[in-house]
Amino acid sequence: MKLQEKLFECQQKGKALLACNFYNFETLKSILLAAKKTKQPIILQATKSTIDYMGLAMTVKMAKTGLEQYEVEGWLHLDHCTTIELITAALGAGFDSVMIDASEQPLDFNLKITRKVVELAKKYNANVEAELGYIAKLGQSHESAGFTKPEEARKFVDSTGIDALAVAIGSAHGFYKQTPKLDLDRLSEIRQATEAFLVLHGSSGIPHQQLTEAVSRGICKINLATEIKNIFMQSLSDRLHHTDEIDLRKVFPHATESASSLIQEKLNCIKS
Ligand SMILES: [Zn+2]
Repeated sequence: MKLQEKLFECQQKGKALLACNFYNFETLKSILLAAKKTKQPIILQATKSTIDYMGLAMTVKMAKTGLEQYEVEGWLHLDHCTTIELITAALGAGFDSVMIDASEQPLDFNLKITRKVVELAKKYNANVEAELGYIAKLGQSHESAGFTKPEEARKFVDSTGIDALAVAIGSAHGFYKQTPKLDLDRLSEIRQATEAFLVLHGSSGIPHQQLTEAVSRGICKINLATEIKNIFMQSLSDRLHHTDEIDLRKVFPHATESASSLIQEKLNCIKS
């Protein structure tokens, strides 16, 4: 099944897919184990930094082989890409879905580059996600976030032809200084304004109850990255403090399992 079809199914049923970023074999394994245990489909996400780190072919083959080996239904998505060049290469290499992120650019530029990506993705029948409004990036002030306006969202989706839209409704990338409060009424208004699959970025640290409420109001893809990195590194660092073991295959599983439990919790919370 194409990702677009699965997202449509989720949207109809008021459910969501979890999209997890992976950074290496261990974090990929954490995600796959969690999806297998909970019998949930999953979106595997990679960013430019991950592709720079692992190489494009390794990223695609490792993800696809992993899905096969763990018998998990899943798709590979390129997260937050800013260039046509990488999107073209990723689609050619087998990504099922791409995100063009020009949300920091003027609206005209965002529209133009997003249309171009939709055109490119047609040949591959790939899913296209774009961002409108502004979801603060790591290290940026969250207050500067410009929320997505329902009417602009409708126009943006209609004039670009995208499948999925990342909405700015009060979430942010990285950790929160205080518990975030999503603008759920705005989310409902955006859902009324457009049929696009709505995506929530920056879910790390959002209380489970708000996540489920966001899903019931129309979010059908939830991105998770920061918490995976954080729990993996915390757990690894903790293990290294207490062992002289040099067999890394005995050291990593502790961190892999910690990240996997976190992902299982999220999957149980938003079951698709
Ligand atoms: Zn994001």
